[in-house]
Amino acid sequence: MKTILLLLFFSLPVFSQSADDELINPKELIPDLVVDLRYTANDHYFLNLPNGDVKLPKFYTNNETLVILRAAKMLKTAQDSLRNIKSFNGNSYPEGIGLKIWDGYRPRSVQYLLFEIFPNPVYVADPNSGSMHNRGGAIDLTLIDLSTGEELEMPTEFDDFSDAAGLGYNDLPQNVINNREMLKSVMQYAGFLTYSAEWWHYNVPGANTYPLRDYQLK
Ligand SMILES: [Zn+2]
Repeated sequence: MKTILLLLFFSLPVFSQSADDELINPKELIPDLVVDLRYTANDHYFLNLPNGDVKLPKFYTNNETLVILRAAKMLKTAQDSLRNIKSFNGNSYPEGIGLKIWDGYRPRSVQYLLFEIFPNPVYVADPNSGSMHNRGGAIDLTLIDLSTGEELEMPTEFDDFSDAAGLGYNDLPQNVINNREMLKSVMQYAGFLTYSAEWWHYNVPGANTYPLRDYQLK
């Protein structure tokens, strides 16, 4: 009887699930991950809205991101693969390629403010149902040269809501397409899902099943 109870205790799946949705700083698992939260900047814009470019207020003050543990483990898989790429697209990357995070977990209160600026659910999730970012299961990111920190050339800037941000947009130089496709294939290899309207957005499968949060970033 004791053995059966013990077995039951150790096989309860709830333990691993609760750890997987814990918010953590992904740099704890990936020390060389570069984080540049654009919502801490004084000069970040939503680009190409119907009324033009709109400058965003500074939503966060601290350049420290959080994601759920499951996403952090997947980001580590991606970064571990990218670090081994020393040459690509005719360029050499002596220390490999890396990831640069523009946004991860986002408090739900910030989602209300973003939606007020651009209430188009293709690009900004309705805060009433919540964004996958509000659940810590989505990341906006790009690729960098790990030896210089320089971003690889991509189709658009972050938060440029034009057609060129779409994954299916190919009226671009071949090297730019190759960079976008490299990011996509390594993120898919790590288990992330793509978002067709934004080349920079990736999320864990089932991201909408994780709890909505309004934990404030410092
Ligand atoms: Zn996103």
